Amino acid sequence: MKVLCIHAHFDDFEFACAGLFLLWKNSAKASNSSFQGKILVCTDGAAGHHFRSREETAQLRLNEQAKAAEIGGFEWELLKDPLGNPFREGCLETNRIFLASLWKAIRDYRPDYIVCPPIPRDTRVGIHVDHLQVAEGVRRVAYLISVPHAFAPEFPDTQVKGTAVPEYISTPVILNAHDSYMGSDEDEHDLEFDISRVIDSIAEMSFCHQSQIAEWLPWVGRHAMTAPKSIEKWKHQLNQRFIQRNYQSNIESSNPMEVFTVTAWGVVPGFEKLVDDLPEFRCRSEENLKARLNSWKAS
Ligand SMILES: [Zn+2]
Repeated sequence: MKVLCIHAHFDDFEFACAGLFLLWKNSAKASNSSFQGKILVCTDGAAGHHFRSREETAQLRLNEQAKAAEIGGFEWELLKDPLGNPFREGCLETNRIFLASLWKAIRDYRPDYIVCPPIPRDTRVGIHVDHLQVAEGVRRVAYLISVPHAFAPEFPDTQVKGTAVPEYISTPVILNAHDSYMGSDEDEHDLEFDISRVIDSIAEMSFCHQSQIAEWLPWVGRHAMTAPKSIEKWKHQLNQRFIQRNYQSNIESSNPMEVFTVTAWGVVPGFEKLVDDLPEFRCRSEENLKARLNSWKAS
């Protein structure tokens, strides 16, 4: 089982889906099929700081992500364009070069599942430009994952030579994580995971992102947060943050939860496949999800 988180920034993984990855890794199902998780970060991380230079911020964010991924036991990669350059934070565009780069990274890893941000249906909700572009990019490239020459002009090494038959690369199941920039759960998530058992590990991973949680986020004021003075204080703050998010997601629970929506961007799973593959989850409406999956399968 290989699962790829595709997100815009260093630290998005920890706040959007680290709980799912940790539960998956620790689940009995994973021990039978060796779970592998990878974080793909799509921007260079140079912009989001107030007193550090762009170069310093980018390097710091990269080191913080490496440390966090190591604690979680996950691989990670910074997305690069065909010339080997990362994409600029705050300026992501769903253009040919970005799609080609996503296509190459996904085909190289060959995930069974992708987790990425959602596309809001309601244009009144807020967005982060990079989150939206990642969501758009994954959606647009999904069909092309199994097309071997789709971006051979951008990545000539992928061109199959002579009479050789290209290897078939399957399209994964694609799940949307919750995006707090949208401020609501207008997409009405499908799957709820109780992350109580792994919240301390998420705290340890996210605590690595000191330039975010102790410097940038308190300054920019988006989450009305104060800089955590210790890992113990951060564990408490993070737990409160997840509980607060339950209100956004209309979940009546005093436990920290992560929520996900099943899309038809990639291969459409049957409900039983989700039960077989994923760690234990609660379905917001099993009836609605099954009906949606069946209608997609039939089309
Ligand atoms: Zn982000």
